[in-house]
Amino acid sequence: MRFETKAIRVGQDPDPATGAIVQPIHVSSTFKRKSIEQTDGYGYSRVANPTRAAAEACLASLENGQFCFLFSSGMAASTAVLGLLSPGDHIVCVQDLYAGTHSLFNLFGKQRGIETTYAPCETIEDATAAFRPNTKLLWLESPTNPLNQVLDLAALAEVGHRHGALVAVDNTFASPYFQNPLDLGVDIVVHSATKYLGGHSDLIGGAVAFNRQDLFDPLWDQQAVGGAVPSAFDCFLLLRGMRTLSVRMREHERNGAAVAAFLREHPKVEATYYPGFSDSPNYELAKSQMRGFSGMVSVKVKGGYEATKRFAESTKIFQLGSSLGGVESLIGYPNSMSHSSMSDEEKAARGLTPNLVRLSVGLEHADDLIEDLDQALRQA
Ligand code: PLP
Repeated sequence: MRFETKAIRVGQDPDPATGAIVQPIHVSSTFKRKSIEQTDGYGYSRVANPTRAAAEACLASLENGQFCFLFSSGMAASTAVLGLLSPGDHIVCVQDLYAGTHSLFNLFGKQRGIETTYAPCETIEDATAAFRPNTKLLWLESPTNPLNQVLDLAALAEVGHRHGALVAVDNTFASPYFQNPLDLGVDIVVHSATKYLGGHSDLIGGAVAFNRQDLFDPLWDQQAVGGAVPSAFDCFLLLRGMRTLSVRMREHERNGAAVAAFLREHPKVEATYYPGFSDSPNYELAKSQMRGFSGMVSVKVKGGYEATKRFAESTKIFQLGSSLGGVESLIGYPNSMSHSSMSDEEKAARGLTPNLVRLSVGLEHADDLIEDLDQALRQA
């Protein structure tokens, strides 16, 4: 089956009791058992729930994975991966990344006696230099949040494996429609399902997808024992979102490319970060490991903080708000929003300058989006 078909059919056979084409929202927390020893498939909804199982089967297939576990947020999914490590272990982590993951490693990692080294991971050499004998996890994002850098996932997976580490990739920015890290040799794909997978800014969810049988039990423990599971209603929303993922992503790509092309030529824009420019660094690499580009575009505005603030607060269609990947366009200021938990030094080390703005380009008409950005840039 191809991507579009899997999104609509996998895990979604008609309900055997009624023939319903749409998956029922199974709100029951518990299920009548066959006997004291045996369930009839389901026992208790934290451990397994039919609506969640449908969404998990569907997402596993979209990531070309055998397995998927859903969590109550992207952060809960990342916490589950951290839960695979033990005190004394070490993480190598890409430097440009979602700040919540940075907080997770710095707070809970440290608390558990796990140290993290941040490396740009733009070259194999810089990533390799960060490894230690006790490195057990290589954590990557590609494209990265917020600077849209593309990393060589196959080569980095090899480096991680050579050092005996698990390799995880946060695939939130690309979505499985454009990139399948498991096919590149990565062990675990993590998603904030809140973003493109859900696609309508109406759910918080997370996922891990993987192929390795030996990771099944430890990750199952993280889900069932850790207990950070999504509600059946959120699983239904996720499933509904994924059914249109391919159509939405094609439009996000079209609008994202149009907005990026406009911004890059604008006299008030200092720099545009978009991996789909044919002259952007790693464009060839991106083309080799991705099937396209999503709607994420970051820019640095000329005129410093004040001009940037006027721009970010003057858009009318782009709404000032955190998050990304929904049908509606959002404009974000990473320094005080998605990346506010980083210190000024950490932001500076990553190039998160005071004139950086991140756009999640939605599905409104591209001309309206461009006119909106143009009028807002005139205020900058
Ligand atoms: N990963 C990335 C790339 C993100 O942008 C986010 C949230 O913005 C997360 C993970 C965390 O996801 P959630 O907000 O669903 O916990």
